[in-house]
Amino acid sequence: MLPVDFNIVGTVHSHPSATFYPSNADLHLFQKHGKIHIISAFPYNLNNFKSYDNQGNIINLEIV
Ligand SMILES: [Zn+2]
Repeated sequence: MLPVDFNIVGTVHSHPSATFYPSNADLHLFQKHGKIHIISAFPYNLNNFKSYDNQGNIINLEIV
């Protein structure tokens, strides 16, 4: 559950497995809240994450 806040830019969450592809529930969340979404997957390093737009398309996001 996320509060209704139209200032939300996006979300970040992790998957316990090695897959960082969004589930159907993730895609539903992406469409409701924010524009940028990051999923991190095991083993949670800089090579194991993807960024998505609110439609679930992979986007390039530089982490600084
Ligand atoms: Zn997920």
